[in-house]
Amino acid sequence: MSISFDNSYARLPEGFFARQAPVPVATPRIVALNSDLAVELGIDPDALTAEVLAGNEVPEGAEPLAQLYAGHQFGNFVPQLGDGRAILLGEVIDTKGNRRDIQLKGSGRTPFSRGGDGRAWLGPVMREYVVSEAMHALRIPTTRALAAVTTGEDVIRERVLPGAVLTRVAASHLRVGTFQVFASRGQTDALRDLTAHAIARHYPDAQGPLDLLSAVVERQAELIAAWMSVGFIHGVMNTDNMAISGETIDYGPCAFMDAYHPNTVFSSIDQMGRYAFQNQPNMAVWNLAQLASALLPLIDEDDDKAIELAEDRLHAFPDLFGAAWARRFRAKIGLTTEEPGDGALIQGLLSRMAASQADFTNTFRALSTGDASSHLTDAGAWDSWAPDWRARLERQGSDGGAVMRAANPAVIPRNHRIEEAIQAGVAGDFAPFHKLNDVLARPFDDGPETADFAKPPRPEERVMRTFCGT
Ligand code: AMP
Ligand code: MG
Ligand code: MG
Repeated sequence: MSISFDNSYARLPEGFFARQAPVPVATPRIVALNSDLAVELGIDPDALTAEVLAGNEVPEGAEPLAQLYAGHQFGNFVPQLGDGRAILLGEVIDTKGNRRDIQLKGSGRTPFSRGGDGRAWLGPVMREYVVSEAMHALRIPTTRALAAVTTGEDVIRERVLPGAVLTRVAASHLRVGTFQVFASRGQTDALRDLTAHAIARHYPDAQGPLDLLSAVVERQAELIAAWMSVGFIHGVMNTDNMAISGETIDYGPCAFMDAYHPNTVFSSIDQMGRYAFQNQPNMAVWNLAQLASALLPLIDEDDDKAIELAEDRLHAFPDLFGAAWARRFRAKIGLTTEEPGDGALIQGLLSRMAASQADFTNTFRALSTGDASSHLTDAGAWDSWAPDWRARLERQGSDGGAVMRAANPAVIPRNHRIEEAIQAGVAGDFAPFHKLNDVLARPFDDGPETADFAKPPRPEERVMRTFCGT
């Protein structure tokens, strides 16, 4: 049994990465294996043993390496980050012909570990597994989780915790920060190689750095609009956590909102609210500006000219984002046609939801499958909005029910459910984790199975903060 690797990143010049084997662990045990994804990757699930998934055995054809990158973390430039606890095993061509990275996360120290131990504990591994697979089921571009294993080793954080390794699958792990590392060092040749690699891999129609920039701008506008439409807060939109492919990457302190408020922040380390829910499009633009600035030396010899050309491409973001956002939110309230007043109608609902601290997911879902008025508890909120909405639906000649049911999930990975699954997992019981994954695989289904998972947290269950937890 073998995995057919074809490792294009390992063929890039040596300065792009450090060759590094995963550091073996004591007693690997599989917690979850995503066989459907394995099949999609053209990998026989039987080849994915606990030994392979923990990094104890390097499969034939793999060329393990740690990737180099830099990044702005909360606005501050860090000239060298890199995979401090992840190892790219290699790439496979999946059954649809797409190239996919297979990476172990939590697989030991690398030359880029800085002070870190290179490990992950079980909690964040379970969280990434649940949330990334839920995002996929919600049809939002994301890295995937192929497997989670426990290592049989302790990891020391604020307390002693069980170690784990996640196998992450991504269209690539190229980040804005990958461009930044070479740009900041003035390594224009490397920047050129990286740009060619990114174009060949993700945007074969792009004619050069400006087209690459436009393509990333477009994908990110779509992605952030998709996040906003399901109440997702990434939490750590640093430039090293923005993928060139347009996939959601790095499920650290992320969370789905329960009660809606545009300023919601979960991450314990985001004290200024830089990555608050409503600020995500702005932060995406900020990151894209860093990508643009890294690409400048390839755009034009004349700096001013290069800046002007790049800015022109960046300026497409607001319209692209606005259009994607409007398309998604129109569907969320059942609109199948466009009218000039639609934006105001949507905002009217959102501001009433914020005033009522209405549950984001359940309020939208109830528009087609329940009684949404019960979620708008602020006096007169529903009655001052619903008649305009009903009149609007009447004008389009359909109740929009099917559109709403396809745009408004019944279940999302709620924080308190993830926490509950993690606590059980740490105690050795993975049944709640598996159940949660099962339910989240069909987020648009109602039913007795899902009803319990659709409930918002009771006050005592509320999770107010999420931790990077590494
Ligand atoms: P993140 O905030 O998850 O995007 O991680 C930022 C950087 O810290 C990346 O370069 C990671 O590889 C590195 N890092 C995070 N946790 C660890 C760890 N336990 N050991 C070594 N490096 C780490
Ligand atoms: Mg990261
Ligand atoms: Mg992280």
